[in-house]
Amino acid sequence: MNKASSIIQIENLHAAYGRSEALAGITLKIGKNQRWAIVGPNGAGKSTLIKIMAGLLKPSSGSVLLNGCDIRQYSSRKRAHVISYMPQKPDGLIPYTVYDFVMLGRYSLMGLMGVPSKEDREVVAEAIEICDIHHLENRIMSTLSGGELQRALLAGAVAQSAPVLLLDEPTTFLDPAHERLFFDALCRLDVKRELTTVMITHDINSALYQCSHIAALKDGQLLYGGSTGEFKKGCPELLEQIFGTRFMQFNCSELSAEAYGSWGMKCLQ
Ligand code: ADP
Ligand code: MG
Repeated sequence: MNKASSIIQIENLHAAYGRSEALAGITLKIGKNQRWAIVGPNGAGKSTLIKIMAGLLKPSSGSVLLNGCDIRQYSSRKRAHVISYMPQKPDGLIPYTVYDFVMLGRYSLMGLMGVPSKEDREVVAEAIEICDIHHLENRIMSTLSGGELQRALLAGAVAQSAPVLLLDEPTTFLDPAHERLFFDALCRLDVKRELTTVMITHDINSALYQCSHIAALKDGQLLYGGSTGEFKKGCPELLEQIFGTRFMQFNCSELSAEAYGSWGMKCLQ
């Protein structure tokens, strides 16, 4: 890791569902202002890891330190000031309108009985604009399409204004234009708020070109945890080891290289 002080420190983390082990000894240091991609096959333990980092699941052993302090010592209110978490899919159908849902991100800071202030409304309006969901404000969350729902969930996480964003597959259902908007929004937020972001993604090329660091999980174990630069040097073999399928490098034209770098990785069918 570079000199950035670590905001999240994960030490020898184990987790299980009943007798089935989901994480088998993960150790990772996440520095301030870094953007991490968590990659790995289905069932590798990615969501389990991010939920433990969000303080929503208890590990069977090991620890997560947030700013040097065990996350179990944080109250949920105190945690909400530091971490916002965007789930892959919300638990159950959400009966709120999009606007009210995004405002919920503020309630975690002010308490449910709180009355939104002018600042709360401004932050919510900004999150709605950043995620391009103004036209969906009055829609009920449960009626949204996959991509619309992801943008509304992201707006809720952004409105919380926490310095750490934990995102579980935030781009899976986005069309290419909105995926681009998503990364542009992250860049703007990075500059404005000095964000630390950890996002699970299946898009290897987004991980390679949009993230500073990569954590690769397989069968609950960390196969790689470090800079994207070093990860690239190990490609395609590293990707083949992680996903158990062949990858090849492709070169980008000058035009797409501007946006995505000069090469990418493609999975061979
Ligand atoms: P990923 O996000 O990488 O796809 P998960 O962290 O969701 O993986 O799951 C890791 C393993 O734990 C998988 O085998 C999954 O089936 C299992 N698992 C996840 N959640 C539960 C649960 N609530 N109860 C039982 N098993 C679970
Ligand atoms: Mg998952």
